[in-house]
Amino acid sequence: MSSEEIDNGRYIPVEIRRAVLMEAGHACAIPTCQFPATEFAHIEPYAKIKRHDVANIVALCPNHHHLFDQKKAIDRKAIKLYKLKLQFLNRRYTKYELRILALLADKAAVVASGEIETMALIKDGLIVNAKTFETQSIIITNNSSGEKVFEDVFVQSFAARLTEKGREFIDTWKSSTKNLLDTL
Ligand SMILES: [Zn+2]
Repeated sequence: MSSEEIDNGRYIPVEIRRAVLMEAGHACAIPTCQFPATEFAHIEPYAKIKRHDVANIVALCPNHHHLFDQKKAIDRKAIKLYKLKLQFLNRRYTKYELRILALLADKAAVVASGEIETMALIKDGLIVNAKTFETQSIIITNNSSGEKVFEDVFVQSFAARLTEKGREFIDTWKSSTKNLLDTL
């Protein structure tokens, strides 16, 4: 256990640590820093969020962790931007997903096609399905017995709305570029 975990008595699950480290290539999230990431920092305080979320955790070297958490020399906004850069770099969101967000920057809702195409946005809680327009059912039956072996309903198109978290993502994105499409 590192000193950080002992200090705040919280344990970040190993699979979340691994995802955060892999997103950053096991390097400190500060782009020019050459040091390996050995510590974890919550972007929004754990006390506020009350759960461990890959999108809210950055991996830092001990120096930059100290500058962020203790010295406050790196502010939360800067850390959010560094995290956003990593997410872009790793193509967590597809261009299609980012275009949906770019549209939602100025519209209350847009028609999105498919829950698979928007999976990461929904999983990360950046958008929600406000209304399902079209669905597709799939039923697979066993040829000989006729028994149903699979049944599911997929959303093909829906009204996507931003969540508060999605709005924050756009605000952070906007603070790094005048035209959102320039970064795509
Ligand atoms: Zn560093």
